Amino acid sequence: MTDNFDLEHIWHPYTSMTQPLPTFKVKRAYGATIELDDGRTLIDGMSSWWCAIHGYNHPELNQAVTDQLQNMSHIMFGGLTHDPAIQLGKILLKITPPSLDKIFYADSGSVAVEVALKMAVQFWTAQGQPQKTNFITTRSGYHGDTWNAMSVCDPVTGMHQIFGTSLPNRLFVAAPQTKFHEEWNSQDIAELEQAIQQNHEKLAALIIEPIVQGAGGMRFYHPEYLRQAKALCEKYHLLLIFDEIATGFGRTGKLFAWEHAQVEPDIMCLGKGLTGGYMTLSATLTTKHVAETISRGEAGVFMHGPTFMANPLACAVALRSTQLLIEQDWEANIKRIEQQLSQHLVPLNQLDYIADVRVLGAIGVVELTFNVDMKTLQQQFVDRGIWIRPFGKLVYVMPPYVITQQELSDLLEQLVEVVKTLQGVH
Ligand code: PMP
Repeated sequence: MTDNFDLEHIWHPYTSMTQPLPTFKVKRAYGATIELDDGRTLIDGMSSWWCAIHGYNHPELNQAVTDQLQNMSHIMFGGLTHDPAIQLGKILLKITPPSLDKIFYADSGSVAVEVALKMAVQFWTAQGQPQKTNFITTRSGYHGDTWNAMSVCDPVTGMHQIFGTSLPNRLFVAAPQTKFHEEWNSQDIAELEQAIQQNHEKLAALIIEPIVQGAGGMRFYHPEYLRQAKALCEKYHLLLIFDEIATGFGRTGKLFAWEHAQVEPDIMCLGKGLTGGYMTLSATLTTKHVAETISRGEAGVFMHGPTFMANPLACAVALRSTQLLIEQDWEANIKRIEQQLSQHLVPLNQLDYIADVRVLGAIGVVELTFNVDMKTLQQQFVDRGIWIRPFGKLVYVMPPYVITQQELSDLLEQLVEVVKTLQGVH
């Protein structure tokens, strides 16, 4: 099944070139179906890592791309502008926190995070506080693979050891402990409070994934943490950066996860589902105050400008994808998925090797008490006609929103069967 050229020459995410994991060749994908080269079909449980919210090969998204292609696929953004960027901007400002007013389009989630961090540093420099250059964050976070994004990822599960002193040293506090549905434990904020109190003079911002910590452990935490974190940022003069790259566009049951806490950040990063998974595009949004302060600073401008900034094809499909989402009763649909996820997954809790089962919006997580063998498990899933990519102790799903009730049942029944076979494996 694995293509030899691919195996020998092409790097895949986080893989070895001497002992690469098998890959499955895909011929096409449509709706919530992935069709392999050998004709087998898989029900998609991953949305291509949170992206393909409307599924694959969506006629209206295809149309948005082909329409835009007739005009231009790309044009430089320095000195030029275009309708896809403007129309997308208008809709983004309508659906994101009211205080956000300025938009920076970039290439990927990681770059959106780099942009957010740079904005925070330029903001404080312009305020006459050039010593405020460092960042504080929680453990178990994930913000991307570029240099500075990597520096604020969890220092243990992230890449800190490998890159050692070449990474900037950030301040880490424990991950929020009170779970989303639990009663708030006021001690949960104490470490953050103390760290900010002691270090605020050199801190530009707190960066955090609101409510759901994704690739750092698929943890769902209490909204009160964000409310208290915001109060601390205000008290000690730190900007608050929300990384909504994974949580955005309905995934957690709200259009964006900040709404669970009603806390508005100073800077917010979007990506992944922004284009419905069609191509790469991200956006970093900020307030008028932050943007105007940066612009009054010594540099006079914000110092970033990627070649493919606001790529028109990507903006056009992002516009259509976002319209498509908000035109439908997406909330009821996510509820439907949430209920089905709970119904199938929660009973797994009875098994002694299951540490936790949790569901929020269209995210379902089964946490085991041991690390899974990704290679074996992946093969088992494919043999049973489903696409799920586990990592560490986690077997999790976040299906495309177009998945039908029947497809989701089939996906979850197979997932549960495979998890049950792990009895005695550990
Ligand atoms: N932030 C979060 C919360 C993410 O989940 C990811 C991607 N998994 C990123 C940033 C980085 O995005 P990208 O892979 O598009 O660079």
